[in-house]
Amino acid sequence: MTITLPDLPYEYNALEPYIDEETMRIHHDKHHQGYVDKLNAVLEKYGDKMPKDATLEGLMEQFHSMGEPNVDDISFKNNGGGHLNHTLFWSIMGPEKEINEELQEDIKSTFGSIDSFKDEFTQAALSRFGSGWAWLVDNNGELEIYSTANQDSPYLEGHKPLIGLDVWEHAYYLKYQNKRADYIKAWWNVLKVIE
Ligand code: MN
Repeated sequence: MTITLPDLPYEYNALEPYIDEETMRIHHDKHHQGYVDKLNAVLEKYGDKMPKDATLEGLMEQFHSMGEPNVDDISFKNNGGGHLNHTLFWSIMGPEKEINEELQEDIKSTFGSIDSFKDEFTQAALSRFGSGWAWLVDNNGELEIYSTANQDSPYLEGHKPLIGLDVWEHAYYLKYQNKRADYIKAWWNVLKVIE
């Protein structure tokens, strides 16, 4: 299995003024590329140990049952998560809204309203200490909000991530410095899948 960095589905400056072009260039071309390169290095080491039909999501779901993780396994968790997380992140943002009606209805029925969902999600993003992500996941048909540290993927828990917000400083520091709350508030404007 060899992973390639997916192109951004829009121009680097498409999310201006909410997310600036330079941040997008460094974030996609340097950070995400770095996860892809390190992931490929570890996948190469696994070699024949991996089933032919393995998927990254499936390997991630099996992570906790692999026994005592070794240094390569930790690298897989970090860099596989880094790749999966960022791939989702780019895909749910855009300069134009492309509402996912079904997801939007599920959010309303679970959290009461889009606004209360946003409040709870924002709280998860703000309260993550240090680097990590805020998530909306599908846990066996139920929507849940939580955050993870570092590049830990919801697939580690068998959950399908639907919306993810990167709150590593590399995602916002150039434009927002230490003001994570301002970045989160701006980000709702470029999240295309809900109002
Ligand atoms: Mn990132």
